[in-house]
Amino acid sequence: MRIADKSATYVVTLKRTATTRRFTLRVRNATRDVVLTIPQRASIIEARDFAEKHAAWIGERLQKLPHPLPFVDGCIIPLRGIPHIIQHRPGARGTVWVEGVTTAGGPALALCVAGKAEHLGRRVQDYLRTQALADLNVAAGAYAGKLGLTPKRISIRDSKTRWGSCSADGSLNFSWRIVLAPAFVLDYLAAHEVAHMVHLNHSPKFWTLTRRLCAETDRAEAWLDAHGTQLHRYGQKAE
Ligand SMILES: [Zn+2]
Repeated sequence: MRIADKSATYVVTLKRTATTRRFTLRVRNATRDVVLTIPQRASIIEARDFAEKHAAWIGERLQKLPHPLPFVDGCIIPLRGIPHIIQHRPGARGTVWVEGVTTAGGPALALCVAGKAEHLGRRVQDYLRTQALADLNVAAGAYAGKLGLTPKRISIRDSKTRWGSCSADGSLNFSWRIVLAPAFVLDYLAAHEVAHMVHLNHSPKFWTLTRRLCAETDRAEAWLDAHGTQLHRYGQKAE
């Protein structure tokens, strides 16, 4: 549904739920979209009225979202939580590699990218996905090994809503963005999904197992609460 304010139009996604009697409007950080939850029986006209009444609020909230940080020459991204400056090396051979650099007061490490400027963003993202998969293969493999299990498959996605998931057949999926977080966070997320291979829920038994596998569970959860949304800023197109 599209609604108009004095100076802008906004796309509002409608979600009907049987369990609510209220209209609830949300602006989501990770996906940068607007969702209006409405009761099962509410009409589209009521929904539109409600959204239009709150158009100014929607505009304000969208303005306050953290700015996206696209992958471009000179920008700084955290790789395993450590700042790296992206340096475009158009004339160099190869694809993407890490080098030590001296930048005045800046990062001591550079993520160097060869090739044309228009491919830089994609090359950086491909590199980060590969790094994430390599780290997760090691971490999830080790945790599963402790339990005498082997993940059926470990794969990388770009999910906006979850950091990882585990299917009933033991396939594990992770967001590539967790390679931007400090290493103990990726490690914990691997343990979390491996624990789901035993308990497909968030029961007390599940948490006991996760904490037994990974001593940093609470610290990592706190880190994700405080900084998790920031990871969604990286690599998005500038607006
Ligand atoms: Zn879970």
